[in-house]
Amino acid sequence: MSLETSKKVLDFFAKTVAKIKQKKVKVTFHGGEPLTAGYDYFDKILSGLKSCSSTVDVEIGIQSNLWLFDDEIGRLFREYNVAVGTSLDGPKEITDAQRGLGYFEKTMQGIQRAHSLGISVGCIATFTQQNFTRWREVFDFFIHEHLDFSIHSAVAGINSNYRYALSPEQYGHLLCEMLDYYIENRKKISVSSLDQICQGVGWLEGRVCTFKECLGMFLAIDPSGNIYNCQRFAGRKEYRLATIHDEFDIEKLFSGQGAQQFLKYQHEVNNACKDCEHFSYCKGGCPYNAWADKQNGKNKDPYCESYKKIFTKIKNRLFEEMSSQENIDAIAEEPYENGHLLLRKGQLIDLIRNGIHPSNVA
Ligand code: SF4
Ligand code: SF4
Repeated sequence: MSLETSKKVLDFFAKTVAKIKQKKVKVTFHGGEPLTAGYDYFDKILSGLKSCSSTVDVEIGIQSNLWLFDDEIGRLFREYNVAVGTSLDGPKEITDAQRGLGYFEKTMQGIQRAHSLGISVGCIATFTQQNFTRWREVFDFFIHEHLDFSIHSAVAGINSNYRYALSPEQYGHLLCEMLDYYIENRKKISVSSLDQICQGVGWLEGRVCTFKECLGMFLAIDPSGNIYNCQRFAGRKEYRLATIHDEFDIEKLFSGQGAQQFLKYQHEVNNACKDCEHFSYCKGGCPYNAWADKQNGKNKDPYCESYKKIFTKIKNRLFEEMSSQENIDAIAEEPYENGHLLLRKGQLIDLIRNGIHPSNVA
């Protein structure tokens, strides 16, 4: 994104945060590779973003392969408290097979450099047809390297017939297997995507966009200044909400044609999913997944089957833990502690209880 367009985005950002009710706003740079913009770019933009923080708490993040991460940019990120995330699919052999020879070394060097400056790095591990059967090696790698990670299933291309992406059955199976292993190893590592799914079921309210009505949660702005509800729709004019170059009223951003496409989808999903026992913490899944999978002729996230599998597993396990003798005795003695049902024991209960209740999230 050119500096000129970026300055318009900053103006838009300042006007928007002055009007909204939220106390916290997150801004994430991702690409392509955002670090190619260089130090001077980030120096200007980060100070511009922070100058808006008198009205709202601005949290800044970047998703980068870290190949261009050096001490200078690291110190700048530290000054602005930029949360750094990268993509790493596990050990060298697995990562390089998916991302190209040499990726692993360069990204690990970036992670080490960030660590040497006191900056922690969160990783996203992408699972594809190539690596999903080796999930255990991937998991053990992150434990060994003391790196927290989240699970990302490769996004299906349009009508791609799951050439790289996992099938719904494979994804459901992967989530269930990894959850068992995570519960065993939960004191050694944090896997945010599994925490979020468990907490969604526990609190009966989704924690990530996939399991919430996502229109209005994000604004994604592409390099030309087009604004979308989600970066996955970037380049699809029918989903564009506005452009940064036009005069527009922020309050009307979600009532134009692009937003109507989403609302139409949401309405159809509400009808299709209304009798599902998991609806309160699933909300029909991801609109992009449904849109990319038009082949199945349904207006539903094709990973429905995977979600049902993991949700059911979590519910059953929760029920088992809650009905343990120790918990029944604790409830009989004193049902509530700090307003919550007193449950003394349970590995999954711990995982859910350690999460923040969604009502406390800005
Ligand atoms: S379309 Fe999917 S990925 Fe994008 S914000 Fe909505 S749920 Fe999230
Ligand atoms: S699990 Fe499937 S049927 Fe249930 S709400 Fe989610 S997408 Fe809809």
